[in-house]
Amino acid sequence: MPVTRSQDHGPGDHVNTESPEEKVPPNRPPYYYPDKPPGEPKLHGACYCKAVKFDIDRTEPLSSKFCHCRVCQKLHGAPYQWASIIPKDSLHFTEGHDNLQFYRTTENERAYCPPHKVLCKKCGSPIMDEGRNMLLLFPSLINFENNEQIKTWRTSGDACHIFYAQRVVDIHDGLDKWSKHKGESDKMDESEPTPHGRE
Ligand SMILES: [Zn+2]
Ligand SMILES: [Zn+2]
Repeated sequence: MPVTRSQDHGPGDHVNTESPEEKVPPNRPPYYYPDKPPGEPKLHGACYCKAVKFDIDRTEPLSSKFCHCRVCQKLHGAPYQWASIIPKDSLHFTEGHDNLQFYRTTENERAYCPPHKVLCKKCGSPIMDEGRNMLLLFPSLINFENNEQIKTWRTSGDACHIFYAQRVVDIHDGLDKWSKHKGESDKMDESEPTPHGRE
């Protein structure tokens, strides 16, 4: 799921880069930012083809969510999306700036204009949803070293499942299950029979 609900579930705001001449990707986090050296890398990640590599200077996200909405199913070619919220300046691309592709789902266009999706141009791996203030990184790209790290990224903060009513697979992990948006929809019992249908 994206940082703001508007990205994938409704019309998004148009927030252009600061000037039409601005370089894309821009000279600010999480891209190239010479004025603020990145912190000590704690984790490393890469896309499938390794054309795009990044470091993360924190050991856990602020929160994580698993989105089962139809948009995420299609865009990821997967039963659901796993995304973790992190500040923009905690991620630093170390390779492949030129291989980044930006895609606006609401406009169906390739453009740098957050909120948008960031992908590898070569292999097509989705890397993150970039919001205006935060990143929703897809932790599947992190090169985790042990199961404890995976559990941390899976359960940090108020980790939960959203749009669970649109699921195609049941998840019994004890995390909260919301039928739609977190806190604004019905909480679902993960043991209740699955509809495995479409809303
Ligand atoms: Zn790639
Ligand atoms: Zn979604």
